[in-house]
Amino acid sequence: MSAQIPIIIVGSSGRMGVSLRELATEDPALTVTALVDQDDDLGETIAQTGARCVVDFSIQAQVQDTLSACAAGGTPLVLGTTGLAEEDRTALQEAARRLPVVWAPNFSVGANALFVLLERAYELLGPHWAAEIVESHHRHKVDAPSGTARRLAEVLMDARGDAATMTVGREGLVGPRTRDEVGISVVRGGDVVGEHEVRFLGEGEQVTLTHRATDRAIFARGALRAASWLTADGGRAPGLYDMVDVLSTP
Ligand code: NAD
Repeated sequence: MSAQIPIIIVGSSGRMGVSLRELATEDPALTVTALVDQDDDLGETIAQTGARCVVDFSIQAQVQDTLSACAAGGTPLVLGTTGLAEEDRTALQEAARRLPVVWAPNFSVGANALFVLLERAYELLGPHWAAEIVESHHRHKVDAPSGTARRLAEVLMDARGDAATMTVGREGLVGPRTRDEVGISVVRGGDVVGEHEVRFLGEGEQVTLTHRATDRAIFARGALRAASWLTADGGRAPGLYDMVDVLSTP
């Protein structure tokens, strides 16, 4: 068997961090060489450990530091943190010129299948069907709407073309719905791991596609699979990849 790939987990004390740590112990391809949480220096940790991949599920405020530390060390990155600002996305594109990055708002197999299924549903149903997304998460989630809901909306907007817009929530005298809106509604509470419902509303009929996460291990498993994929056979070329790439390329 080939040597295990040493990885660093950033956000290691969080809900996802704990799940990643547990599942990594069962993964024969990977070994966790260091844990980084707030107050730790990722750049120093990479230099000291020689880690071959960083897996970050922390907070938006850490993302720029993670990108700089990985770019400085040429260390491949799996980024799952959501709530990214425009400048984070720009820094992400910049870093991906120098190193391979898998960035996904949702690392589960099912949600990534949903991204692909949506394109097909839109193709069959056409632009006259309204598309609305409802996302639900536990009460601790700090960003809204979820990264997955945004990605679902982007898939629908890409299918719809230039005129498409994203409407997050509605309040007051908003007027009739326009044909080119993709709406997102947000629900927060309890211990909901993550639910995304895409409703296509037609005249006299509706189609609903739902992804329901009941265990956050699905995200951790996907992220570890992405870390193995990034580092296999000498490693991937620099670039920005997503989970659909990981699932569809051996
Ligand atoms: P959490 O609040 O339980 O954990 C966040 C962790 O990050 C905490 O341990 C916190 O101390 C740590 N942290 C804070 N500042 C830090 C810093 N500067 N450097 C390093 N660590 C720092 O949150 P969570 O539920 O584990 O989620 C973490 C992130 O992952 C969120 O952005 C969440 O939306 C995202 N998420 C993504 C997916 C996906 O599939 N992409 C799935 C679930 C969660």
